[in-house]
Amino acid sequence: MSDVITSNVSAKLDGLRQRFREKAVHEFEVLCSIGQAVASQTADCEQLAHADHSLHRLAGSAGTFGFSSLGEEARRLELLVKPAVDLCKTGADSGLANLDDEMARDFGQRLQSLQDFLDAGGEPTTRVVAKPPESASNEPLVLVIEPDAAQADNLVSGLGLYGYRVQLVEDLQQWQAGSAPTPPLVIVRDQVFLAGGGRLNETFADLPIVCIGATDCYRHRYALANEGADAFFCEPLNLPLFANHLDNLLTDRADAESGRVLIVDDDQELMEHYSLVLSAGGIRVKTVIGDPGLLLPALSEFRPDILLMDLQMEDISGMALARMLRFEPEWLSLPIIYLSAESDRERQLEALARGGDDFLTKPLSDSFLLRTIRVRCYRAKQLNNLVSRDSMTGLLKHSLVKSEAASEHARCERMGYDSAIAMLDLDHFKRVNDSHGHRAGDVVIKGLANLLRRRLRKTDVIGRYGGEEFMVVLPDCPMGQAELLLNDVCKDFSKIAFEGKSGEFNVSLSVGLASLASYGHPEEAIEAADRALYERKRSGRNGVTVAFQ
Ligand code: GH3
Ligand code: MG
Ligand code: MG
Repeated sequence: MSDVITSNVSAKLDGLRQRFREKAVHEFEVLCSIGQAVASQTADCEQLAHADHSLHRLAGSAGTFGFSSLGEEARRLELLVKPAVDLCKTGADSGLANLDDEMARDFGQRLQSLQDFLDAGGEPTTRVVAKPPESASNEPLVLVIEPDAAQADNLVSGLGLYGYRVQLVEDLQQWQAGSAPTPPLVIVRDQVFLAGGGRLNETFADLPIVCIGATDCYRHRYALANEGADAFFCEPLNLPLFANHLDNLLTDRADAESGRVLIVDDDQELMEHYSLVLSAGGIRVKTVIGDPGLLLPALSEFRPDILLMDLQMEDISGMALARMLRFEPEWLSLPIIYLSAESDRERQLEALARGGDDFLTKPLSDSFLLRTIRVRCYRAKQLNNLVSRDSMTGLLKHSLVKSEAASEHARCERMGYDSAIAMLDLDHFKRVNDSHGHRAGDVVIKGLANLLRRRLRKTDVIGRYGGEEFMVVLPDCPMGQAELLLNDVCKDFSKIAFEGKSGEFNVSLSVGLASLASYGHPEEAIEAADRALYERKRSGRNGVTVAFQ
């Protein structure tokens, strides 16, 4: 991962570091006066508890802002005072019984040196780094490296049907890195790839590379894999299968680099720091201060992939919050990761036993935080997909797409806009199965799913409603626009050539469209779209019919 830092993020991180420093200076004034009381054996339990809490926080946060050695020393001092604090908790008059004279003096002096360090303008010992924003384009642009003009034409028009934009070059020399946005995927003629001797892999590090070629044998496949290819397709290309594979590679890559994280902490600067670092790496972040009343609404609204929670906040316990969340069936499977300065394995295990899933020990380096959160978000999404998505198409399952329609209906009422809802059904699909076999039929279903994913916006909802029936919800989309878009989808779909037992064939699609906002209940809008679909089937199929209100 690159350690380049964008100037915008860098300036914000510097600002946070400055705020941390100012707060720490203030905190050390209090700590030093407690240190003096400890040294002269006059400190009481309240002061010790304050010192313990304050040192714990500094131990967890200082490293994040670059003050690693200060954080490490705070951690050592926290451990030094811990036995006395624990004694206080048992009700003993004074925790000081456990601190001998020398230790008490040592404690006071070391706190004083830390304050002197800050007063003398002590600087961060480690540089904070963040990853620059990824080129976050949702456009399915692919780079095709194909020296043969006729083959290139075929590929460009074929992929165009699936909504891919193609950037075409004849060879690697023609590709000018930096002069255009880097595409998220590369398709390359196998001979070009092998002749490059790994240069393509270097140029497009981390990008999926799909090879195409006319020769197919295991030796050839091995040679391609050995050079780092991610997939190979033999010509003539089965375009629907090819597009399906590209789609999976892109979705997988997008999933691996995105995610949603809700952070719960009582340290505002720390939350802002994490938030900046993760956002700069493409993760969507929401922060909420540890308050039982704020957490559930924030979860419902933001719907994160994972929850990152401080273990010990001002007067709120992360463990108790986690348990409280598990009261709700909806949040039973939400991964909760504790983020804490607690390094005692026993206590960590106890926290995990009480509603948490994993533990990250503060302080964390920025690059580690980003990498680990990405991986965890990816896993959480994969698991979630297993539950909520249809395994054949990757689209939402029946009940989920229906509940999305209901939420969108409510949103229409709230926001005062209109959204479209459409039912889609393949035409004469029984005949497809009968003439070309069930497997060819499956490819058609996947082909439509891919086309829809490519053609619709990220915010649109697509679900597999039944066997060869789909439901689509287009938020904030007037009827006229939805009709044009879906008509285009119908036209393009009918042009896709599928391969079956008895040669190539095409399949058409019928669509019934209704306006969500025009009905008092989402179910009525679904019924209206269903009736319009039926009407379309009666009047000739292959196209869109809009519901009468
Ligand atoms: P119409 O134009 O009126 O919709 O005609 P149709 O033949 O498509 O009729 P209908 O919608 O009733 O037929 C659905 C067919 O889709 C029946 C079923 O065998 C087939 N089907 C449902 N799910 C799958 C699937 O997952 N794979 C395949 N290959 N076929 C499926
Ligand atoms: Mg049908
Ligand atoms: Mg049907």
